[in-house]
Amino acid sequence: MRPQPLPALDDNYIWLLRDAAGRAVIVDPGDALPVLEALDGAPTPHAILVTHHHPDHVGGIPALLDRWPGLPVLAPEDPRIAVASQRVCGGDQVALGPWTFSVLDVPGHTRSHVAYATDGLLFCGDTLFSLGCGRLFEGTPAQMLASLDALAALPGETLVCCTHEYTLANAAFALVVDPGNADLQARVAEARGQRAAGAPTLPPTLASERACNPFLRSRAPAVREALSRQAGHPIADDVEAFACLRRWKDGFRG
Ligand code: ZN
Ligand code: FE
Repeated sequence: MRPQPLPALDDNYIWLLRDAAGRAVIVDPGDALPVLEALDGAPTPHAILVTHHHPDHVGGIPALLDRWPGLPVLAPEDPRIAVASQRVCGGDQVALGPWTFSVLDVPGHTRSHVAYATDGLLFCGDTLFSLGCGRLFEGTPAQMLASLDALAALPGETLVCCTHEYTLANAAFALVVDPGNADLQARVAEARGQRAAGAPTLPPTLASERACNPFLRSRAPAVREALSRQAGHPIADDVEAFACLRRWKDGFRG
């Protein structure tokens, strides 16, 4: 079944994946209330998956454990996620109900950030956003580039279930970096229509992100040219290009 994004907090989405019996896997519950409402009357969930330690991704867990004592909480090894009951790391395969999730280490936004991939779905937290990527709070540009490369290598039809509604803000920057990209222009028009209708812009396909997201296109000639102009000198390598792009976005005010 298609995963369901639950709007939460200011601009987060909590993702719910439900099996045929209605049992859910809950991803990054920053708040409990939207989950409790969505699962009112539903059977006990399978588990909670956590991508990283930030409060807008874990804040709802204690209240969900009050509602469902003993509910497994899977999270990366990090003392800042004390509520975890099972630790996961890159390369792990986790079976929950009808799904087997592959865990990927994706450091960059935080040092212990993980992503979960299953059956054409990717839960990538704050690593990859539609038309953007997470800020580098704890990692290096080289780490984030490697993390995004690993995600971008998944099949093109994969649905990218990221955890913030940042698409239109990201679009403003993407159009400055990559103005001649017709796929990007089409995606921005689509996203504007989705927001105007009150709908989420997520999940896009990975193929769409590879075609449109400047942070997956930092090697593309058009993006490289824009980065060289922004830097004022030729870009030496892939990591410098990515670092320049991320720095440019950090200072960008649409
Ligand atoms: Zn975060
Ligand atoms: Fe977040």
